Amino acid sequence: MNISNTQSLQKVLSAWNKKDLKTALVPTMGGLHAGHLSLIKIAKKYSDRVIVSIFVNPAQFALNEDFSTYPRVLDNDLILLKKEKVDLVFTPEVNDIYPDEIKKNINIGELDRILCSKTRPHFFTGVLQAVTRLFEIISPNYAIFGQKDYQQLKIIEKYSNNVKIISAPIIREKDNLAMSTRNLYLTHKERQIAPKLYQIIYKLSEGKIDKNQAIQLLEKYFRIDYLEILDADNLKKISYNSGRIIILVAVFLGKNRLIDNIILGDEKCLLLLKKLKLT
Ligand code: AMP
Repeated sequence: MNISNTQSLQKVLSAWNKKDLKTALVPTMGGLHAGHLSLIKIAKKYSDRVIVSIFVNPAQFALNEDFSTYPRVLDNDLILLKKEKVDLVFTPEVNDIYPDEIKKNINIGELDRILCSKTRPHFFTGVLQAVTRLFEIISPNYAIFGQKDYQQLKIIEKYSNNVKIISAPIIREKDNLAMSTRNLYLTHKERQIAPKLYQIIYKLSEGKIDKNQAIQLLEKYFRIDYLEILDADNLKKISYNSGRIIILVAVFLGKNRLIDNIILGDEKCLLLLKKLKLT
């Protein structure tokens, strides 16, 4: 069932509510791939009813970014979602998500001063406004977000109020490139280079190379935006107390920007902490 109208949506939601059915929301911008579908599978485990929203959020694109050309393939998305037996697809209009004007100066705090925020300062205020509004309209019990967008996940966890946030691992192509709707933009040559990103951070995660060597290798193929090794729980500098650490990377490849990350727990984390002389 595809609903664009918030009043019709409320009718369905209140019927489910009366039956005390638990709901899980998977927010997306469409252009669905197996990564998105994996979130739906997780959503089903937690809830009785799964809602997928498809909304290309203007507030998370800067003027020089790809808002007008972002893949909008609703018919195909709806076929995929039908196959997954999703209970409801919500495709709101801009007015539903932004009944008032889009705000530009929300203070998200420290988490919005690092990593992607440095090159895309508009991005998380845009994401947070749309997600908060979706939560307000739908009031799901759960919402599922991918670890692919790790900084986004951490920001949403912080501002999710009553919605329980569930995180989902990164789904990759056969050659380990993290799936992304924007991978469609890669030229044939760029698509062949792109998997180097994961290969290099994987070597770093295994302790086979150090951060400087990883930077040198990345520079052979990409223009680096950042490569950081941080505490996975709070995205702060790693310390003696860090239980899990995360390697986060963003690079430019031609006109494209690729992000990826690897989370290390337990033994691997200890190994890397040792290498970084933090144990
Ligand atoms: P998007 O449509 O790109 O805004 O993504 C919607 C949701 O899917 C976000 O929670 C993303 O983190 C998640 N997602 C995107 N790519 C992947 C992937 N390769 N594996 C797992 N989740 C993903």
